Amino acid sequence: MVVLKFGGTSVGKPERMKKIADLVLSTPGQKVVVLSALSGTTNTLVSIGDHLLGGKPDLAEKEIAALEKHYEAFIKELYSSEAFLAIGQETVSRFFIFIRLLAAGQFNNKSYRELLAQGELMSTELFYQHLQERKINSRLLPALHFMSIDENEEPELEKIEQRLKPLLNSLKNIEIIITQGYICRNHLNEIDNLKRGGSDYTASLIGSALRAEEIQIWTDIDGMHNNDPRIVKKTFPISELTFDEASELAYFGAKILHPSTIVPAQKHSVPVRLKNTMDEKAEGTLISNKGTEGTFKAVAAKDNIVIVNIRSSRMLMAYGFLRKVFEVFEQHKTPIDMITTSEVAVSLTIDSSNNLDSIVAELKKFGTIEVEKNQTIICVVGHNIGRQKGILEKVFGSLADVPVKMVSCGGSNNNISIVVEPSFKEKALIALNEGLFGIK
Ligand code: ADP
Ligand code: ASP
Ligand code: MG
Repeated sequence: MVVLKFGGTSVGKPERMKKIADLVLSTPGQKVVVLSALSGTTNTLVSIGDHLLGGKPDLAEKEIAALEKHYEAFIKELYSSEAFLAIGQETVSRFFIFIRLLAAGQFNNKSYRELLAQGELMSTELFYQHLQERKINSRLLPALHFMSIDENEEPELEKIEQRLKPLLNSLKNIEIIITQGYICRNHLNEIDNLKRGGSDYTASLIGSALRAEEIQIWTDIDGMHNNDPRIVKKTFPISELTFDEASELAYFGAKILHPSTIVPAQKHSVPVRLKNTMDEKAEGTLISNKGTEGTFKAVAAKDNIVIVNIRSSRMLMAYGFLRKVFEVFEQHKTPIDMITTSEVAVSLTIDSSNNLDSIVAELKKFGTIEVEKNQTIICVVGHNIGRQKGILEKVFGSLADVPVKMVSCGGSNNNISIVVEPSFKEKALIALNEGLFGIK
């Protein structure tokens, strides 16, 4: 069993959707195919939802109408026969009737999440009908029947496994099982999602639950690159990464993977392969338990980080101080990414401002609090870089012209993280590309 996930650009054009059908067929054995929404759809649904929540139904309707036109044109190229075009038209019209019903009702956060789910629900149905037209042995398995998150918005891997196994058993004779990425049910049984980019996470959760041979993430680039290709011109694909290395890169901003993708795959050691839909011959990246040599592997950056600095000459030396500080973050369900301490101060970073005001109010008990919003973490990932000599010299030598606000090193053997002002992000990434990988 192989799980193949195709992202928005891989299904965003009718000819691409047809091509991925060929690609799936050329993979031997039974397959679970996880699809994202067509590229641009989730962004549009977010915008429609924002207009509706903001009391601007006219603007929402404009975007709904444009999106509907896009799908009407899409199906005209996707299906070859009149009969399937008619089925496609019925499908699109049914979805847009539902979207307009949501828009016309009491629009709240629950309807917003239902609206966001329509992208994946539509793409999978259109793809399934395309396979039906080609008489390919396939079935649509609704993700809302098995994918769930708990009250802390964490996927319930064991429950997912318990639901999926019998479902898959009943589909033994089906060659291609199609399901939606991103969407799930929450603890109230409402429609919810795994956050933006969540289809990667879906694929990994399914692959892990089914102990798949491999989880393949098909996208628009030939694997994990050594640096952010959206910012740095000359980057190259990395052929192998360990789970730990890939996890750090995903968590610290490599957009090719949802931040949590690697966690379920690593739990059951299911290899994750990143492949390019536009260039299937390209080797891509294999992420597994196998460590590979080579000191520096890649650099990634994550924006919108908040630094919280606690200054307290009274308490820091006292034992139990850090525990009390951590408890405040724990109570507010806010994970800490980086931490540095001195004898009179401790600095932490978090990537969510959601509970910041209450966190700061509570931390004031311990000392003087300073907050710096909108910062950037740059993360250097490599094999054994926490323990080798000369590594820090290389990293900081490259960053000679970049003011560094925080440094974290040695926490894990494969990560050095620094915090910079966002205005220095591009400079830092380019400088590291030259200093660590010798690319000008
Ligand atoms: P999909 O729609 O298939 O999920 P995404 O846009 O989410 O695709 O992810 C692929 C994009 O991730 C690439 O086009 C690339 O611009 C971006 N990206 C950012 N950092 C990296 C990296 N280190 N390696 C590869 N791609 C990266
Ligand atoms: N369609 C969702 C998004 O754009 C999920 C995904 O593509 O992974 O965020
Ligand atoms: Mg993505």
